[in-house]
Amino acid sequence: MKIDRKIRRTVEILEEEFGVPTWRSKDPLDELVVTILSQNTNDRNRDLAYRRLREAFPTWRKLLDADLPSVEEAIRPAGLGGQKSGRIKETLEWVVKEFNGFTLSPLDKMSDDAVIDLLTARKGIGVKTAAVVLAFGFGRDICPVDTHVHRIAGRLGWVNGKTTAEATFHAIRPHIPTGKAASFHLNLLKFGRTICTARNPGCGGCPLQRDCTWIKNKSVA
Ligand code: SF4
Repeated sequence: MKIDRKIRRTVEILEEEFGVPTWRSKDPLDELVVTILSQNTNDRNRDLAYRRLREAFPTWRKLLDADLPSVEEAIRPAGLGGQKSGRIKETLEWVVKEFNGFTLSPLDKMSDDAVIDLLTARKGIGVKTAAVVLAFGFGRDICPVDTHVHRIAGRLGWVNGKTTAEATFHAIRPHIPTGKAASFHLNLLKFGRTICTARNPGCGGCPLQRDCTWIKNKSVA
């Protein structure tokens, strides 16, 4: 089966299983900061850290003027506080310089690829982060590839399991049905957290078992 058909089938099956997800877009700069916080932690700790950060620094200006240890303390629940606090401050400094204020709205005029190139030129901002900002900050039709999406893409045989998440992003991007990319990302996340988990996936009750390369190879081995 061609990758287009495989992905289209997966979109449909996951929509049957989980419905079509909806979400409320965030301000793109908020989304960028949240995504920096989300690296190597779970959603609960990320959200707690973000809440604490905004309570401690109700404006981005206050955060930029604060010293690093107080930013680090605010985001402690997300882990890697030293690295993430520096990255957030550097990012805000760059945003102010580049766009004359605490806003990413000028990016709205740019193509997806131009935004990806611009953001990923910054240290510590990868393609996944740029795609999250595009999808959930700017409402673009793009599917970020995080660890769940990458794992599922390998198991379902869309890509070679040994490739990188960034390569998976580029490989699957042209094959996702138009208008479905962001909602597909959310359904893949749900699928990856509840059924196709990293360890002990629930293959017995999996609606995608028929299409799964991983389980076929396992049965042969
Ligand atoms: S059969 Fe198992 S490994 Fe394959 S997609 Fe389903 S849960 Fe994941």
